[in-house]
Amino acid sequence: MSETLRQTIVEIGRRLYARRLIAAYDGNISCRADDAAVWTTPTGVCKGFLTEDMLVGMDLTGRVTAGDRRPSSETGLHLGIYRENPAVRAVVHAHPPAATALACMGRALDRPILPEVLLTLGPVPLAPYAIPGSPAVAESVAPYCRTHNGALLANHGAVTWGGDLWEAYYRMEKLEHFAEVLLRIEAAGGRAREIDGNTAPRPVVS
Ligand SMILES: [Zn+2]
Repeated sequence: MSETLRQTIVEIGRRLYARRLIAAYDGNISCRADDAAVWTTPTGVCKGFLTEDMLVGMDLTGRVTAGDRRPSSETGLHLGIYRENPAVRAVVHAHPPAATALACMGRALDRPILPEVLLTLGPVPLAPYAIPGSPAVAESVAPYCRTHNGALLANHGAVTWGGDLWEAYYRMEKLEHFAEVLLRIEAAGGRAREIDGNTAPRPVVS
């Protein structure tokens, strides 16, 4: 993996933590280094304080090939997304508070309300609950990997993906921002009006 990719994973971990999209040891970040290799974040470490030597290399079956730490328990979610859609080159999983609140209420983020959300993120479905760290998490997201850019995980959090690390990360920021806007509207006793879905920009799917 190039130095730049390693630095980018560390920087995205720092931003996820600084922006409170994760708490404690939550969340994980991965990218495809080439067609056979994936680099991901280790378990048991706050992603706000990663260093480049903590990252774990593995093949697409999950066999560790580099690094001396254990990979995240959610590695199966990342590998499942790469298998479902080879165009995906990076995945970010977090527990952002507003988006996770909606996911706990059994709600998706799929209404056409903000045009720039449709443009950069697209509609975000709700994947059914699966025990974190189990193979069922990847299975719950599999139907969306080719048609969407992310998903809410019921009673758990959110996952986004993209053609590179920054695209996956910014989609997570956007997802949480959209969820926050919706919750503020509802807290004010309002109701979001939908824009015409036919004229809104189409989501960009990697
Ligand atoms: Zn999680």
